[in-house]
Parts: sequence; C-alpha cells; structure tokens
Amino acid sequence: MTGKLIDGKVIGQEIRDEIKERVTALKEHGCQPGLAVVLVGENQASRTYVRNKQKSSSEVGMKSELIELPVTVSEKELLDHVTRLNNDDSIHGILVQLPLPDHIDENLVISAIDPTKDVDGFHPENVGKMIIGQKAFLSCTPYGIIKLLERTDTEISGKHAVIVGRSNIVGKPMGQLLLQRDATVTYCHSKTKDLASFTKQADILIVAIGKTKFITDEHIKEGAVVIDVGMNRDENGKLCGDVDFESAKTKASAITPVPGGVGPMTITMLLKNTLHSAEQASAEGRCS
Ligand code: NDP
Repeated sequence: MTGKLIDGKVIGQEIRDEIKERVTALKEHGCQPGLAVVLVGENQASRTYVRNKQKSSSEVGMKSELIELPVTVSEKELLDHVTRLNNDDSIHGILVQLPLPDHIDENLVISAIDPTKDVDGFHPENVGKMIIGQKAFLSCTPYGIIKLLERTDTEISGKHAVIVGRSNIVGKPMGQLLLQRDATVTYCHSKTKDLASFTKQADILIVAIGKTKFITDEHIKEGAVVIDVGMNRDENGKLCGDVDFESAKTKASAITPVPGGVGPMTITMLLKNTLHSAEQASAEGRCS
C-alpha cells in the first residue's frame, strides 16, 4: 500500500481563504481582528515561527502587532505588556512565544493572558473547559490535526487512536479532542514499554515526540492514518518529522508529510481562534 498524502498546505490554504472572507466581512462592520505576538530574546526558531505567524495574519487581513523584548526583560515588565494587551480593544488574540528565558515563570505569564484572548489555548481555563467539553480556545496543533482528519473524511468515531507524546501543548489535548469525537484513545510516552505493540493497534497514529524519523513501518498497522507532528532537523539540516515517511507510507492508508502537513495547520488555527475572538468582541461591542 502507498499512503495517500494528507496535504496540510492545501487544506490550510482553504481554511485561510475562508478566514479571509470572514475578516473582510468583520472589517465592513468596523472591526479588524488584531493579533499581538510577544517575542522574548533571540531564539532563531522562535523568530522564524513569529515571522510566519505575522505574515499569515496580514495575508488574511488581520492587524498584527509584534512586541519584541530583550532576553533580560523582567517578569514584571513582561506581565505589564500582557496586561496592556488584555485591555486593548483592538487586540483579540495574544500569543507569548515559548520558550521563555529561565528567570520567567511561563505558567504565570500564560495565566496572566485574558482567557478570552488566549488564542494559543494554553490558559488553564481554556484547557479545563476543553476537557469538560465546553466552548474554549483549542490548542492550535491538535485543533489543526482534527481539521486535517475532518477535511480528509477520516472516520474518528469508534477508531483506536494512539498518541505518542504527552506534552501539554500537543499530546494531551490531542487525546482529549479525539476522545470527544468518540475514538478509543491510548497515550504512549518515553516510559511506555514495547511501544510498537501499542502503535501497531492504531487506526489513527499521532506522533509528537521530537525524535527524527523514530517511527517506521514496523510501528504501523496496515491501513492506519499517520499524523506526524515532529519538526526536527536531520544530519543535513533538512526539516523532517518524527516518522520515517518513506517506510511509513508503505503501510499507511494516509499520511502527513513534514514539511507541509501539520505545520501549516497550526498557524491556520491560530488565525481561526483570533477570528472567533474578534467576532465575539464585535458582537459584544468591544472591538475598536
Ligand atoms: P515535548 O518535548 O514537550 O514532549 C515530547 C513527548 O514525547 C513527551 O511526552 C515524551 O515523553 C515523549 N517521548 C520522547 N521520547 C519518546 C520515545 N522514545 N518514545 C515515546 N515517547 C517519547 O514535545 P512537543 O509535544 O512540544 O513537540 C513534539 C514534536 O512536535 C517536536 O518535534 C516539536 O518541534 C513538534 N511540534 C510541532 C508543531 C507543529 O506545528 N508542527 C507544534 C508543536 C510541536 P515523557 O513525557 O515521558 O518525557
């Protein structure tokens, strides 16, 4: 079997085109969605992510504000910026790019963001609401993966989904979103014994571990749908995933590439969350 490609670039663009239309409609009502991105320090990967997020937000017609702070910024100063953005009616989404320097408490900063502007979906209030099935901002990567599955007509209900990785931003919320859609969910992590015995049971296999080409055909059941979240560099500096694409595609019925799979969806869902926030603010007369 050669797996069908799940093209995140194409699906992401379709969704961004829909977002752009809704942004245009909202602007006609006098409300331009605004996304603020706070970047601390000189981390090159973070700079690239932030640049891409800003470019994508302006492409759909959103306002984007970048707050660049030196690595030496104090926790208090950073929190002051968050408070200012919380109170700014022209900003509907606030994103603090992680990781932050060691002297700053990430949890404190995330908790300081107004949950109604927490478009990354990391605030404990949004995480809690998501788990009990209430309306909330969803963490962008797992939300993007759900959209990939939905838009490729992948059946979720009754399927066995195996998630490799249990981080707060990818693995954990991913399992919850699949559970809500009636999958049977198994979590695996670095202490899991005999990983392949679990991954081979997966109808839907989601891998988010940060280990180059770790998952091969030997981990995959014939016909499984394989979603590779990993963003790693191989020995030649080339971007690659956690899944060995060439061997995995011989078993998978459908598979995401890296790059061009999950990555474009993460940014797209950030824009979708920002749009929702602005639409809500506009409906409540809080958009300037
Ligand atoms: P973390 O480092 O926070 O978590 C990694 C998880 O993988 C942990 O739960 C860890 O287990 C588990 N793990 C590590 N090694 C193994 C192993 N050998 N077998 C089984 N499980 C293992 O990573 P993230 O979730 O933040 O990111 C994962 C990958 O996804 C990275 O490559 C990252 O760059 C990428 N990523 C991509 C995004 C995108 O938009 N495409 C967005 C976010 C992340 P334990 O908990 O036991 O330590």
